[in-house]
Amino acid sequence: MKEYILAMDQGTTSSRAIIFNRKSEVFSTSQIEFRQMFPKPGWVEHDPAEILKTQIDAAKAAIEKGKVPLNQIAAIGIANQRETTILWEKNTGKAVYNAIVWQCRRTTELCRELKQQGMEQTIREKTGLLIDPYFSGTKVMWMLKQVPGLMQRAEKGEICFGTVDSWLLYHLTGNHSTDPSNASRTLLYNIHKGCWDDDLCKLFGIPMAILPAVLPSSGNFGITKKEIFGVEIPVCGIAGDQQAALFGQGCFSEGSAKNTYGTGCFALLHTGKRPVVSRNNLLTTIAWDRGKGFEYALEGSVFIAGAAIQWLRDSLKIINSTEETGEIAKSISDTGGVYFVPAFVGMGAPYWDPGVRGTILGLTRGNSPAHIVRAALESIAYQTRDLFSSMEKDRGKPVTTLRVDGGASKNDFLMQFQADILGIPIERPRVFETTALGAAYLAGLSTGIWDDIDEISKNWKCGKSFSPEMQGKEREEKLINWEKAVKAARMFV
Ligand code: ADP
Repeated sequence: MKEYILAMDQGTTSSRAIIFNRKSEVFSTSQIEFRQMFPKPGWVEHDPAEILKTQIDAAKAAIEKGKVPLNQIAAIGIANQRETTILWEKNTGKAVYNAIVWQCRRTTELCRELKQQGMEQTIREKTGLLIDPYFSGTKVMWMLKQVPGLMQRAEKGEICFGTVDSWLLYHLTGNHSTDPSNASRTLLYNIHKGCWDDDLCKLFGIPMAILPAVLPSSGNFGITKKEIFGVEIPVCGIAGDQQAALFGQGCFSEGSAKNTYGTGCFALLHTGKRPVVSRNNLLTTIAWDRGKGFEYALEGSVFIAGAAIQWLRDSLKIINSTEETGEIAKSISDTGGVYFVPAFVGMGAPYWDPGVRGTILGLTRGNSPAHIVRAALESIAYQTRDLFSSMEKDRGKPVTTLRVDGGASKNDFLMQFQADILGIPIERPRVFETTALGAAYLAGLSTGIWDDIDEISKNWKCGKSFSPEMQGKEREEKLINWEKAVKAARMFV
């Protein structure tokens, strides 16, 4: 019986490889950063060849570091930065343009036109998404229009489109496929019927010949070419990074939720086999397909979370390191009435307000940098609470526990305050590599490394939990003040 699973965690700034053993323990890791390209204001690109090379090199380095016998790797699982769009030649595998990254805003005008045509409702109903440059559809449209001759070649079936998972898979195995969690971020996939949507492809002017096959997230995606690792390894799991993290956190049942506290926050709530259409500006997305049909999630994101703490360090220079913020916040009993709305780049769900900007309110002469630091940490918890309050409204039931991960979830003060503000317990796992672990689980389940999700659920170990301690009245007062602060920030525009 083989012992290991190789997870490829292809992120926005680095490619990581993590080898897990059967006990779901991290056995060996490697990480390689790659170039970020900003050709114009608001534009973000990656070199697809670099994504591929760094990912394969990271995998080889992790194998070498752990001295893992190649014949002991049962399968590969891929988790990837989502929505990032690549087009390549079917014959040569060469990309025809740089990858247009999820953060890239170049299709803002195209999106505006689609909204003006009144397409928002149809797109929301079919895809669960909003019209926004974030998603792949308008990025494909842009490339097909801008690269000379590309549309004709696409129509002839000479071009492949894929998100990053699909790009990696094509080069690892020669197969042009993806999984539903990634397909559901393109604006082209009907999340109810489970197929690429003819009408949407027509609307976007995208020939269906370029689209990958959509296969279950856990299953056989193909076998790596022998020249890559020296042996053939099956690729048996694929999911977008946030859905992979939901899986890695063991959130398998309806009502279970995770929040990742990184640069921004990504919250996902598992809604079972039922897609919940949001009335509160959240996204409906496919969580995964384990070969037994789709499972769905509601998703919301906060743009600036940990980034606000970086700003305190790098721009305001009132802290030396992000790690010290917890102690600084605990050194005072409250923010002294200071509220910080860190809307540096507008606000995401549930506000979707691109024009709002950051604001600090309630300052007095008695305030010190500690109050600002504490208010910045608290703002992460308030923004997360706004997401969960929308999720609860959409679902019609409360969320009862939250599992957390990401860099800023290491901050105990923040996690305690989060539990207080949500009024529910928070669980932080022992293994922080939840994204890679999710990809490993999807791959390992289909190769028999793990029998079923019950076994995986048992492997999830709590590192630390936080129970709500704040009185209801205090929580309500704080939430009212936060709402006032957001309102004030939005009025200032
Ligand atoms: P990403 O994957 O988005 O790069 P990470 O999960 O690596 O993010 O987390 C990094 C972010 O978390 C940074 O924005 C940083 O400011 C924040 N962060 C890291 N440690 C702490 C901490 N102890 N307290 C608060 N924020 C932190």
